[in-house]
Amino acid sequence: MLLPETLSAFENFCEHAKKHGFEPKIESGYRSFDRQLLIWNEKAQGKRKILDEQGKEINRASLNDLALMKAILLWSALPGTSRHEWGTDIDVIDAAVAPAGYEAELTLEESFGLFGNFHKWLGQQIASENACGFKRVFLPGIGRVQPEPWHLSYAPEAQKIERKFNAENLEERLKNSGILLLPQILDNLEWILEGCVKCYFLPYP
Ligand SMILES: [Zn+2]
Repeated sequence: MLLPETLSAFENFCEHAKKHGFEPKIESGYRSFDRQLLIWNEKAQGKRKILDEQGKEINRASLNDLALMKAILLWSALPGTSRHEWGTDIDVIDAAVAPAGYEAELTLEESFGLFGNFHKWLGQQIASENACGFKRVFLPGIGRVQPEPWHLSYAPEAQKIERKFNAENLEERLKNSGILLLPQILDNLEWILEGCVKCYFLPYP
């Protein structure tokens, strides 16, 4: 479900990486609005863990609805604002060093540990525009989403989608979706978008 442009750029990127001893593998690619909605609602209902900024579980009973929504937003995008819905964004690991049957965690600890060499190399490729059009978007200090060095965006296509993003369409879609915490979301939509979608409009570092 990735865009063909994203896929062929990823193939080129893999070829380039292979020459340096790396084997990029897509851990998570396309994710639909409905899938993101399911994750959101399960977190709101307490069927999935809610984590704080350090990745520690938060006691759900200690949160009111507004605090609950903000806590979910730390690690999960509001449905309709996840870049994984675009077909341009992927989460990658380096399969060359992953042990057989390894389940990727996609954490900072893992990125600087097991996949440390890959991420260092990847950063250099992006900085010198040698990453076949892929860029990082969730960087420390940008937006409210936690830094995600493993999350790559195919910039030529993603930027087209960023320009078309429309908050009113999103509001309508959410109202008709059965999403939990809807009143809190609508009261804070501007704030939510500033933290995630609007940061997309910043020039890619
Ligand atoms: Zn991602």
